Amino acid sequence: MEILFLGTSSGTPTKSRNVSAIALIESTGSAWHLIDCGEGTQHQILNSPLSLNSLSSIFITHLHGDHCYGLPGLLASAGLNGRTKRLRIIAPEETKSWIELTQQVSDLHLPYELEFVTACDVGNHPFDVFSVSSISLSHRITSFAYVFTESKLRRSLSVDKIKNAGIPQGPLWGSLKAGNDIQFEGMIYKSKDFCDAPKPPRKIIICGDNDTPDLLAPDCKNCDVLVHEATFAAEFSERAKTLGHSYAGLIALFAQNAGLPNLILTHISARYPENPTELEQEAKAIYSGNLFLAKDFERYRLRTDGVLELSEHA
Ligand SMILES: [Zn+2]
Ligand SMILES: [Zn+2]
Repeated sequence: MEILFLGTSSGTPTKSRNVSAIALIESTGSAWHLIDCGEGTQHQILNSPLSLNSLSSIFITHLHGDHCYGLPGLLASAGLNGRTKRLRIIAPEETKSWIELTQQVSDLHLPYELEFVTACDVGNHPFDVFSVSSISLSHRITSFAYVFTESKLRRSLSVDKIKNAGIPQGPLWGSLKAGNDIQFEGMIYKSKDFCDAPKPPRKIIICGDNDTPDLLAPDCKNCDVLVHEATFAAEFSERAKTLGHSYAGLIALFAQNAGLPNLILTHISARYPENPTELEQEAKAIYSGNLFLAKDFERYRLRTDGVLELSEHA
């Protein structure tokens, strides 16, 4: 699983940061999901390896403009680019009427179907490689976090053992890896004898704007990566509270107490320079896990062993 940041600025874009958008890329194939779609997100996608045709679903955390004003344009462009595959949008419930009104007044006819799912209800809808749930956050308007948990357990085969047993490479290997017992030349072979114990499912939480990180606590067990806003440094803690935002020290303290191994901060106020060292220093003084301050086009890979690494600039 990979996380590619398409926009990391709060409120307004800057020369080096666009407004909020994150791509969550599945481990297998090119399928990916978009979390938030601030204005200009489709331009950021054009400057990345991602394609609107392989976009599987869009999650919107909340309806402030810096998280969703890019949505109508992106949907229109996907249509003009020839998309025909249905697109699922998981979002606060007002999103459906907003998009439908936009389609009506701007005479926008999409050559593909939109399926709207209310954020609260996302747990009842299946996804290919992970299950998704939502968490209600505290912000000036309704805001959600989305929890992505791998749904398929990953086993690795012991190739030496399987070769010693004389089982030929092919579908039987795949069947053993999938956890099935097999029959070969009159013998039964048990999957557990040829596979390592399944690795725990990877779990990533990506949050909308939020002034109360403690709301995430019940879902942080076994979480590998938390992506959370840190709009300000602690010197603006009062302003952060008034605006319904977090500051770096607040989310760092939560992540430290929750024992989270990896924390990525994003949604940085436009008042800070491209490298906001004061936010990083503030968080690092409190949080002892792996801390990252996201930049546009940074691509992070969550390895199967739970290690998060900054893999490349997309
Ligand atoms: Zn925001
Ligand atoms: Zn907001």
